[in-house]
This record gives sequence, structure tokens and C-alpha cells, in this order.
Amino acid sequence: MTKEFRSVQGFNDILSPEIAKFQHIESVARRCFGLFNFREVRTPVLEQAGLFERSIGTSTDIVEKEMYTFEDKGGERLSLRPEGTAPVARTYIEHNIDKQDALQRWFYIGPMFRHERPQRGRLRQFHQAGVEIFGTDDPFADVETILLADTIISSLAVRDVTARLNSIGCPVCRPAYLKELRSYLGSVRERLCEDCRKRADTNPMRVLDCKKEGCLEATASAPRTTDHLCNDCSGHLSGLRSGLDALKIPYTIDTRLVRGLDYYSRTVFEFAPARDTRAQNAIVAGGRYDYLVELLGGPHTPAIGFAMGIERMAALIDTPVQRGPAVFFVPLSSESRVKAVRLAGVLRHTGRTCEIGYGEKTIKSMLRRADRLGADLVIIIGEEELRDGFVTLKRMSDGTQERVNDADLPDAVGRMKS
Ligand code: ATP
Ligand code: MG
Repeated sequence: MTKEFRSVQGFNDILSPEIAKFQHIESVARRCFGLFNFREVRTPVLEQAGLFERSIGTSTDIVEKEMYTFEDKGGERLSLRPEGTAPVARTYIEHNIDKQDALQRWFYIGPMFRHERPQRGRLRQFHQAGVEIFGTDDPFADVETILLADTIISSLAVRDVTARLNSIGCPVCRPAYLKELRSYLGSVRERLCEDCRKRADTNPMRVLDCKKEGCLEATASAPRTTDHLCNDCSGHLSGLRSGLDALKIPYTIDTRLVRGLDYYSRTVFEFAPARDTRAQNAIVAGGRYDYLVELLGGPHTPAIGFAMGIERMAALIDTPVQRGPAVFFVPLSSESRVKAVRLAGVLRHTGRTCEIGYGEKTIKSMLRRADRLGADLVIIIGEEELRDGFVTLKRMSDGTQERVNDADLPDAVGRMKS
């Protein structure tokens, strides 16, 4: 048989045992989101292409090169979402959420799609867990957003991941900064990579984000955003920093940190493994986007959020131990199978995971399967057991065997397991 079909490049199947990492990360993230009182929002994976073109910006890598955009049968230009913030902002506007309560704390978990060159830590379908706080420009919201990311990372026992922080100003102070940056980049143009020469004109801050050695060197003494902030932006940054300092949340200021999306203002931050900070290894990326909701036609709504890359987080954690079933049933006839299903129902009701042997022909092969699955206990049901209303309960760890009346089974399982 030839394998006619295979998955699309950059689109991965996620299965056991790797899936246990994803489940663990998602459940820890969900728990933390809940503890910080964020509510879940689920948006579609398809949106109008224009939503991303307008919000992320046309001269960004995402919109220029990475979006899956196509016309559907009705002629609508649609994109698979490359990120979660623009769709969530669209939702906020579409449902007039500000009329109920402008201040909202939302989270999302789901797949994102970018047509990038697949490599380690870079997929075409990947998953993000993210949050957004809408409706406040209080620097304390920034503090809490960074604390939440930090809490998830430490709850996953991931160490040596550090936060870097910067402020990229606002429409008041950024134009003057960009003017200076442009003229600086003009002076080092020859030393920049081809992409960056283009970026120098279209999206100059992105040049600071280039990971190529030559560009890093050429921009080592580029003007820094933090030297050009207006009073409000620098006040906001000090508010954020004093909050983080008072709460002893560790971070470093990285004046080269920018984001690849146009909609950010003021705070930008990233969490990445401490070693080789310039590599493609940011796990969490976030920042403030005070003008996004307005840009999409909504009311002025300052906001902040982050997105965590689940695959990149998975690369940093150990695979959680997957437990075998508590009980594996070994029925020796079709009548005893019915009894096995009935008893399994009783045990499942008490929260015990049960599997019933079938397919395997002999008692020996069923016991082998129980062993392979890592079952704690085996319940054998043969002719005699069926006739006299009992089962044979066997503990796999030491082979101890007991005869147990059907009615006493839940208690006996509890006793034998401990
Ligand atoms: P990078 O600089 O690595 O390309 P980015 O700036 O494009 O990242 P964001 O758009 O801010 O990333 O996305 C937030 C997070 O999502 C990243 O920090 C990363 O963990 C994850 N991520 C982004 N793109 C991918 C991808 N193609 N595959 C896997 N994870 C990704
Ligand atoms: Mg990218």
C-alpha cells in the first residue's frame, strides 16, 4: 500500500506522548487565566483579509509574506488568522462591548497560521494562548499582564526564561524618533541586509528586530526609543517599572525590542530563554495597543495583551507522565464482557479509568496489554466468577490476587490501589 496522503508541510499532527505537553500547558494557562479573572473568547479561524491588513500593517512580515489569504467561492478575500489580537479587537467592537463595560479581561487559546519557512520553533499552523485587557491605559494593567505571563511560566516550572521590556512611544513622540532612526539607518544602509534596506523605508523600527549579525552590528548605536519618549510615555514606563520593581518581578530593559506588528504603542515585552536572546525563541510576546480598537472603527480603547507560543513552550518542558488505566478488565467469554462493561461503569462512576480487553484472544495476551498500558489493577472474569458473582482482582505491581464480591468492588479497588 502506498501512502497517498500526508500532512501539509508546516502543519503538524500532535499525538501522544507529545500531546500531554500541550494539554498540560493549556490547562496550566487556563487555570492561571481563571485565577486572574480573565474570560475566554473564541473567534473564528477565518476573518476578512482586510482586518489583518489594516491592523497588523501592510509593511510587516506577517501581512507581506506570511498570510494565508484566498478568495472563497463567493469571491470574499479571507485570511486564516495569523494572530489573535486583531480578531479579538474586532469582536470587542462588533458586539459593542464598551457599552456594557469598557474594561474587559479576555483570553483565547487556539491555532494560528503563517506561511513561514518551517523549522525548529517555526510552524505554519501553531498555537497560541493569549490575553487582552481592554479599556485601560493604567500601567498597573501592564504590570499585571507581565505578572500573568510570569506566573504561567513559573507554574510550568520553566526556568531561565527572562522578560525584556521596552517602550516604543506613541503617535505624539514616535514620529520624531522615526525621523532620527531613518536618518541613522540611511547612514549605515550598505551594512544592512536586503530586507532591512526595504524596512528602513517602510517600517524602520523593524530593522532593530532583525536577527542577522550584520544588521545587529550596524544598528548597535542606533537611536533608542527610550531617549525620545514624550512626558506621558516616559511617565507610563516609570509607572510600569516601579510596579514591577515593587513586586520584584524580574525584567531587563532592552531598548532594541520592538514588535513586528504596527499596532503596538508604549509597552512592548518578550519572554525568552536567557541564553541566546536573539534567536527565534521568544515564548511570550506582548505589548500595548492603545490605538488598535480605534483603528478598526471602534471607540478609543487603550489595551494591552500578550500571546504565548504553545509549541515553543512545549520545547522547554518535560513530557508529563501519562498514567495507565486504574483497571484493565480481562473477560474470558462474551457473557463476562457484559459483566465487565457493567462493573467498569460502576468504577468509572467513582472516577477510575477502565479499559476492557477485547481483540486479544488469550488471557495471556490480555495481561500483556494490561502491563503495556501500565494498568494498576487487572480484573479477571471467567466462568466461575460469572456464576458466583465475584471477580478476581490482581495488583500488577506485586501480583497479589484477591477474590472480591461484585458489590464490594469499588471499595476493594480503592484499597488495592493504595
Ligand atoms: P518571531 O520574531 O519569532 O517571528 P513574532 O514576533 O512573529 O515572533 P508574535 O507574532 O509576537 O511573534 O507571536 C507571539 C508568539 O507566538 C511568539 O513569541 C512565538 O512564541 C509564537 N510564534 C510566532 N510565530 C510562530 C511560528 N511560526 N511557529 C511557532 N510559534 C510561533
Ligand atoms: Mg514572526
